[in-house]
Amino acid sequence: MKDVLQKIKAEAIEALSSRDADLEAIRIKYLGKKGELTGVLRGMGQLSPEERPKIGQLANEVRSEIEELLRKKKEEYELRAFGISPDFDYTLPGDEVPSGGLHPITQMCYDLNDAFRSMGFEIFGGPEITSEYYAFDNLNFPPNHPARESMDTYWLEGHDSGSASDKLCLRPHLTGDSVRYMATHKPPYRFVYPGHVYRNETTDARHERAFFQYEALIVDKDFTFTAGKVMIKSILSKVFGRDVPVRMRAGFFPFVEPGFEIDMGCLVCGGKGCSVCKHVGWIEIMPGGTPHPNVLRAAGLDPDEYTGFYVNIGLDRLVMMRYGVDDVRLFHGTDLKFLKQFH
Ligand SMILES: [Zn+2]
Repeated sequence: MKDVLQKIKAEAIEALSSRDADLEAIRIKYLGKKGELTGVLRGMGQLSPEERPKIGQLANEVRSEIEELLRKKKEEYELRAFGISPDFDYTLPGDEVPSGGLHPITQMCYDLNDAFRSMGFEIFGGPEITSEYYAFDNLNFPPNHPARESMDTYWLEGHDSGSASDKLCLRPHLTGDSVRYMATHKPPYRFVYPGHVYRNETTDARHERAFFQYEALIVDKDFTFTAGKVMIKSILSKVFGRDVPVRMRAGFFPFVEPGFEIDMGCLVCGGKGCSVCKHVGWIEIMPGGTPHPNVLRAAGLDPDEYTGFYVNIGLDRLVMMRYGVDDVRLFHGTDLKFLKQFH
């Protein structure tokens, strides 16, 4: 009987060594209810009491060997179905799947959105291709203002029919979007409108041809500069997670009257002076002012009734401040080694 068991084992090994062995047929042939091994176990009653435990043990060993071979063969078939060699060592560490993250400028934009939203502002977005009307005419730019010239603005060829609303360009600033918003909403307003703007400028450490802008506008019957300054200081402190020094000084822009400039203490050098802050310890981060009466009129509002507070936040500069990086071009490049350190 021992020989019979050895023969069964040898036959089963032989059958399973074939590349395309039929596993179910082999299982039935040897281990099934009417299988050969089962037959041996059934005949054990005829054995002497001394032989019985030995043969029983051997029969169990043969059974587990065949079961183990069947299991391995099944695994081999599964791996083969995925084109993996049976010799493949899947206990080895695999290739690391790179994880994505937000670009530092996008992150800054989201953080500002959160800060403004917490103060009751709405987030609004306009189109990147706009017209001369929305880019200049309704913002109080005189017809001969140098910013209208092609040296500053990217005009789209073949879209100049002579009328300002048809002459298309890449938006050189976001202010036109505020007019779009006001034309379709009822005052009072509190909204921000972030997005890309395009200028035909020479790039240097602080200027880029395409960059992100972030504007905020409040239009109400009564809103003071002091309230605006406190609001900006609290937004910046929220975004930077600490108290940020802020100063306000007079400035001039065509679409505000009066205008101001808000500076923040340079966080790159801590106010001591560096190339980013032109060695003065402060960096210009947002021009702003009260919307010019002509801008309010363009939006269909009466400037005698309404006033407001407008700021244009230099998102790139805030990102430079957040990470202490002194060249804005690094954030617009595609060097992942540089960008990954901010995840
Ligand atoms: Zn500095």
